[in-house]
Amino acid sequence: MDFRDTPSEAAFRDEVRGWFSEHLVGDFAALGGRGGPADEEGWDVRIEWERLLGADRWVGMSWPAEYGGRALDYAQQVIFNEEYARANAPGRISFFGEGLFAPTLIQFGTDEQKRRFLPKIQSVEELWCQGFSEPNAGSDLANVQTRAVLDGDEWVINGQKVWTTLAHRADWCFVVTRTDPESKSHHGLSYLLVPMHQPGIEVRPLRQMTGSAEFNEVFFTDARTARENVLGPVGEGWKVAMATLGFERGTAFLSQQLGFQRELTDLIEVAQKNGATADPVVRDKLAGHYAGVQIMKYNGMRMLTNLLHTGVLGPESSIGKLYWTNWHRSLGETAMDVLGTDALLVEHEGDGDYHLDDLHQTFMASRAETIYAGSSEIQRNIIGERVLGLPREPR
Ligand SMILES: Cc1cc2nc3c(=O)[nH]c(=O)nc-3n(C[C@H](O)[C@H](O)[C@H](O)COP(=O)(O)OP(=O)(O)OC[C@H]3O[C@@H](n4cnc5c(N)ncnc54)[C@H](O)[C@@H]3O)c2cc1C
Repeated sequence: MDFRDTPSEAAFRDEVRGWFSEHLVGDFAALGGRGGPADEEGWDVRIEWERLLGADRWVGMSWPAEYGGRALDYAQQVIFNEEYARANAPGRISFFGEGLFAPTLIQFGTDEQKRRFLPKIQSVEELWCQGFSEPNAGSDLANVQTRAVLDGDEWVINGQKVWTTLAHRADWCFVVTRTDPESKSHHGLSYLLVPMHQPGIEVRPLRQMTGSAEFNEVFFTDARTARENVLGPVGEGWKVAMATLGFERGTAFLSQQLGFQRELTDLIEVAQKNGATADPVVRDKLAGHYAGVQIMKYNGMRMLTNLLHTGVLGPESSIGKLYWTNWHRSLGETAMDVLGTDALLVEHEGDGDYHLDDLHQTFMASRAETIYAGSSEIQRNIIGERVLGLPREPR
């Protein structure tokens, strides 16, 4: 096994590095790696940066050339993302559009749908949000109750979604709805594409303990979308939604270990400076986190190798999701140990809002990672049933 770049991969890496050294300057460089897919820090600068990436087709780099992409293979995508983390470029905004919806659209969409939606994702003119979860449909997504019925040439949608990240910023939402009123469970669902700016949609922010509101409740009251805005066959939305979740658990996170390595290096630097490394327990934890980065790196390469050979991400992607989310949560806890009593202090921004520094941000945000994109318990069920062949859990 040789994990070094081939000559053509090394040339591609040079091209990417060259692009970053030319473009990652000024406000973009000043923002550093801050801002995640779910938060709004440095929003205007990040939108501008994202548009620059889109103009040079780094947004949509995996798409076929006929839809404006660079048709890069997985190894090249990983190289790009590694260099992205190394350059400490701003946190990406287009996770839901580019990371989740676009690959699903490429797999299931008509040519007309691809031509309608992909260019606006690439130019960052249209942002997307994910309308899957409901108050009674999270892990049990098949229990979706939001309904849609055809009225002439339009679908009319009624119901409620929850935890919809960035719904207040999005122009479109991909929504799992029940289009067969007699159906139960994963039958009779359809994957509708719904414009957000219309009277039938109300977005109510969910304010978090930090004061910010990154996700929302979304209420649909006779909201409308055109009849052709359904992805995949009517009634077969489950299959399409599962593909989106596959992208969310697998490829979207494939190349993040360099970012994790950087977070760990930063934390070690803080610990060296404030003397926390004198504590043997802290030293023990930091060494454990370092070992974890190596495990993630090699697990990621194994997933990538399977992907290159078979073209599909198997349920093994759940191993990656389970591992990295628990690793990151534990890193956040160690960060608070390193800060000691300073961990209790955050900057007050007025009106009950707080500005979190990078370590607090890691601690807080990582708590959610073992929940979204399928909780750790759900990943263990998948590994148990589909990888190990254990008996299915009783329903
Ligand atoms: C930060 C964040 C952002 C999110 N953004 C979005 C978004 O943009 N769009 C969207 O649609 N959703 C979003 N979600 C929702 C997310 O998908 C759900 O929270 C997740 O699927 C879990 O569902 P739930 O919250 O209803 O919890 P539940 O499903 O009610 O689970 C509660 C607990 O029970 C456990 N559990 C449930 N079923 C089983 C089982 N069969 N076996 C063992 N244990 C089980 C779970 O692991 C969990 O510990 C987001 C969530 C978070 C935290």
